[in-house]
This record gives sequence, structure tokens and C-alpha cells, in this order.
Amino acid sequence: MNVHDSERMAGLLEQAGFEAAETAADADVVVINTCSVRERAEEKLYTRLGELRVMAAESGHDPIVAVAGCVAQQEGPAIFKRSPGVADIVVGTQAIRRLPMLVEQASGGRSTSGSSSVIDLDPHDDVTFPLGVTRRGDPVKAYVTIIEGCNEFCSFCVVPYTRGHERMRPKADILGEVREAAAQGRREVHLLGQIVNHYVAPDDGLCDFTGLLEEIHEVPGVERIRFASPHPRHFSVRFLETMRDLPKICRHLHLPVQSGSTRVLAAMRRRYTRESYLSLVDRIRALLPDVALSTDMIIGFPGETDADFHDTLSLTSLVRYHSMFSFKYSPRPNTLAEQRMADDVRDAVKTERIVALQAVQRSVQTELNDDLVGRNVVVLIDAASRRRETELSGRTSQNVVVNLPGPAAWIGRTVTVRVERAGPHSVWGTAGDGGRVSADEG
Ligand code: SF4
Repeated sequence: MNVHDSERMAGLLEQAGFEAAETAADADVVVINTCSVRERAEEKLYTRLGELRVMAAESGHDPIVAVAGCVAQQEGPAIFKRSPGVADIVVGTQAIRRLPMLVEQASGGRSTSGSSSVIDLDPHDDVTFPLGVTRRGDPVKAYVTIIEGCNEFCSFCVVPYTRGHERMRPKADILGEVREAAAQGRREVHLLGQIVNHYVAPDDGLCDFTGLLEEIHEVPGVERIRFASPHPRHFSVRFLETMRDLPKICRHLHLPVQSGSTRVLAAMRRRYTRESYLSLVDRIRALLPDVALSTDMIIGFPGETDADFHDTLSLTSLVRYHSMFSFKYSPRPNTLAEQRMADDVRDAVKTERIVALQAVQRSVQTELNDDLVGRNVVVLIDAASRRRETELSGRTSQNVVVNLPGPAAWIGRTVTVRVERAGPHSVWGTAGDGGRVSADEG
């Protein structure tokens, strides 16, 4: 979601006449888009502001600096106080559409009064966004927001405070953006929302998330559809059957669990139990046997005992996730957990537990990827591999990263790849039939 907000801000600034610069040292305006889901992510903002202060002092080059995103929304004017003289603009998550105007105000303030501090934290309910503005950074995939904000108030989560209450984007806007992205050659669409399977179109009360998927499936040029994240509480049989029956919907579900202990889940206010989550996994696998699951896990939530942690380990072994994002708990401002629960699991214990969890997860991932060796998989090539410039990388429908040799011209094409070796995070292979590209294979 943050990456997509950056694409939107870049597009807005381009429309206002700016061009992307290579580095901050070449830029007239620097926008720092921030995340506050974890404490460490938040600290990075102040490190970056410190670097910009040093750059300005040493070189005399002093660009307009805007702080955007969740930390901006959360900290507001405190950013000016904590890093005096560096940031000119603090723009909240729902105010980014006004960024070009705020830049103008800040630069006008600098030249007239010498004071450039501009702040806009207006939560604003309007979730429409003009077509043709977003500067999409990826030639193959397009992010499309369908829901902003969240009403769940899980006790650890800062999102309802930084992104506001849940607002559905009109279906007409979503389909317009999908059609635009497909017409520009994006073959994969990623639908974004805090709880995508809670979607009901404000402009068509009969269209829920399943209905939206059905309509997007009909858009010419869209080859694959992904989404993040569904909430375990909002699955229906109709949704799973639709996923089974529509071939463009990728066989991957990100199914955040957060803990394997029912006791901890209750304290997190997740509103499902270990048992109901596992039964959902069974129902998903009965209808979609080839689906890959991934998840998020929080380690060391207040009150987490050894027994709770062992429930998390055992759930991880039972579900056999293809991938997992695991984090050590840190209290987030304004949340129920921060206000009412002591952060009582020692950091050393959190570290010990997360290391143990990641070891179990790593061995599951290695086994799942090993199973692919010797098999042919269909891969949408989406980038030059980060490992070696001569390699390409892409993903299977299950979201497994596949590395292969091939020319850059293959980026955006679908190829069949024979997998030759596997690691815990990706696999390697060669394109079938000596590199023949099987264009448009689903
Ligand atoms: Fe945060 Fe997700 Fe819970 Fe919403 S559902 S409060 S975004 S963790």
C-alpha cells in the first residue's frame, strides 16, 4: 500500500511539472513516505531526516522535504520539533492528493517569510483518485486500491489510527483503473485493502469482493489477479468456488494469523480462534488443493507464554505456509495493547522465539520448494533478478519466485520453466523447449 501511495505521489508531482531525480542531492523536492507498522520502520524516518540535514549543511543544497505516510499521520507537528529545520511538509495518508499544492505553499513560504512548515493531516473521506495520474513503477504489475482504512481495531495495530476508518472505493473507479493498467500493458493486477474480502461496492450494493473479482476477470489484457489481504473472518464458500473457477485468480492466499494461540488471539482482538483458523485452512485446501498460503506472525505479544509460543510453532508446522512475515512485537502509539497491556516479554525471549519460528518456517519452505524440482511451472517474468543481472525472475501463480536465464525482452511474458534446483526463498530453472516462450499461457 505504501509503495502504491509513492506511485500516486510521484504521478501527482509529475503532473505538476516535476521530473524524477536520481538522488536527493539532485532533487528540488524530497518526499519520504513512511511506515509505522513497526517501531524500527518509524526510526528510519529520523535517520533519513538526519542524513538530509547533514547533506544540506555540507553541500548547501537544501531541498523542500515532505514527510508522508503513516508516521506523518501519527506524529504530525512533532516531526518538526524532533527534527527541527529539516522537514518542510508533513502530509497525512489521506491528504497526499494535495501534495503539489503543499509543495507550492512551502516553497512560497521559504521565499517570503522564511518559514515553510506546512501540515495537512485531514483524514478526508473521499477515496476516489483520478485516472491517468499514478506513475506505476512496475512494467508488469499494477497495484489498485479497493479499500482504504480499517474498522477492526486489532489491539496491536496502528492502521485504524493512521489510515482511518474503512472506506470502499467505487467499483467504477476500480474497473477504470484496471482497464487503464491493462491497456498500458500491465498483465498482473494487485488489489489492495486492509480487508479485501470485506469489500462491498458503494456504487453497486449487490457487488461484493467476489463480484468484483468476476468483473475484473473479464477485463481484456489482465492475465493474473492477486490481492492482499483477506481476513480469516470474511471467507465464503462462494468466494472460494469463484477462486477455483476463475483461472486468472492466482492460487495464493495471504491469510494473516498473527499467533497460533487462541488465548493470544483473543488478547489481540482477532475474533477467530486457532481452531476456527485451522478449519478455514482445511476448507480452503479442500476446494483449492493447489493453493499456496502465506501469513504474518507477531512474536512476543504481551502475555505470550512458552505454551502460547509452542501453539504458534505447531500451527506453523501444521499449515505449512509457503512464506511468512514474522515480527517481534513492539507497542504502537494509541493502540489498545500500548495503552492497556505491559510489553512484558523480554526482548531476548522475543529474539529466541522468532529465531526458532523462522527455523521451522525455513525448513517448511525448503521442503515445499524442493517438491518443485523436476517439474514444469508457469512463470510470469516480472523483473531482472536481483541476484545477477543476466538472470530474470518471475512468479508462479502460487507466488513462488523463479529465477532463470533469459533476455530482458521476456519481462512481461509468461514462460514454462523446468525447475532444476531450489532454495528456501526461491527456485532456479530454465525455460522449456530451449527457451521457447509460451506466450499468453495462463
Ligand atoms: Fe490492523 Fe489488519 Fe487488524 Fe485492520 S484487520 S486493525 S489492518 S491488523
